[in-house]
Amino acid sequence: MNQQLVDNFGRQISYLRLAITDRCNLRCQYCMPAHGIDIVDREELLTYKEMYRITRVLSELGVNKVRLTGGEPFVRKGFMSFLEMLDFNDLLDEINITTNGVLISKHLEQIEKLKVKSINLSLDSLNREKFKTITRRDQFEKTYKALGLLEKSKLNLKLNVVVQSGINTNEIIDFVELTKTRNIAVRFIEEMPFNGVGQKQTNEVWNYNKILSEINREFPNTEKLKDKKSSTSMNFKVENYKGTFGIIPAFTRTICSDCNRIRITATGMFKNCLFDDGVFNIRQFMRNGASNDELKELFLKLVAKKPKDGFLAEANRDSDVTESMSTIGG
Ligand code: SAM
Ligand code: SF4
Repeated sequence: MNQQLVDNFGRQISYLRLAITDRCNLRCQYCMPAHGIDIVDREELLTYKEMYRITRVLSELGVNKVRLTGGEPFVRKGFMSFLEMLDFNDLLDEINITTNGVLISKHLEQIEKLKVKSINLSLDSLNREKFKTITRRDQFEKTYKALGLLEKSKLNLKLNVVVQSGINTNEIIDFVELTKTRNIAVRFIEEMPFNGVGQKQTNEVWNYNKILSEINREFPNTEKLKDKKSSTSMNFKVENYKGTFGIIPAFTRTICSDCNRIRITATGMFKNCLFDDGVFNIRQFMRNGASNDELKELFLKLVAKKPKDGFLAEANRDSDVTESMSTIGG
């Protein structure tokens, strides 16, 4: 039998999150400072060929799903050609994309022809002005248009909402209400300190429990759905509503025991966990001439050391969590 990526806790790794770029066309407050992040030189970014090679090698070790993220994947030139290239990898069952949707609309027809199964669209407010405040860019119409087109497409759609204390918490109910007549899976994400500056002080902590009780107060008739193995969200449905909602305990980290994911950042840093500070520079390893067998051996060794959970990963860091989510690949 082929070698598989299994860590010391018996978790099999089958899902890669790959950051296409660290650049973005928005400046979400919870992700980066107003002036943006110090983007890396182009030659420090993985090339598409390198990304293809990494994905192929990982797929030969049992990775059958890839999520493309960033930064904003659609801002990198050649992204659609890369998607087509990735589609050739017969060992991949699923390609998924996380995007802010600003640039996706004109590519949807082409995307539907590929093995792209699901799009996670980030939209934190249904109000144009508030969207502008959160993202520091006036692009609400484009993201909202993408939402409508994605709903009509054959792609699975998840709507990501980062719950930001004092900013969009008064819209939680509106987002759940969207699922009444629309077949949308809304997912509320706990805010994490990956924003370029670190942990914010807020009057209220909007964690999983608080988000759920806010929803339950308005909708006592919610039912818990059975979550897929390794799901990042706990999922629910309001009785007789068409769509569903879920909560991602990204910061309280109660989902680690089932984790099947690894990450490669836009510069080729390998990460076993969102909360570690990058455990190996794959880009340099490849550029120094590593063979595919050497890459495989390396991945097997790195994955074996995956920390038990996000708290241990954070404790092993040299510095506090402050980096932007767009450099990690959220
Ligand atoms: N630009 C794309 C987008 O926004 O969908 C992809 C990259 S973005 C970093 C991926 C996801 O991470 C988005 O859903 C975003 O809302 C989420 N995210 C970014 N910073 C976050 C933070 N500090 N806490 C929680 N989620 C965050
Ligand atoms: Fe860009 Fe996504 Fe970060 Fe917003 S969350 S700044 S869209 S990378």
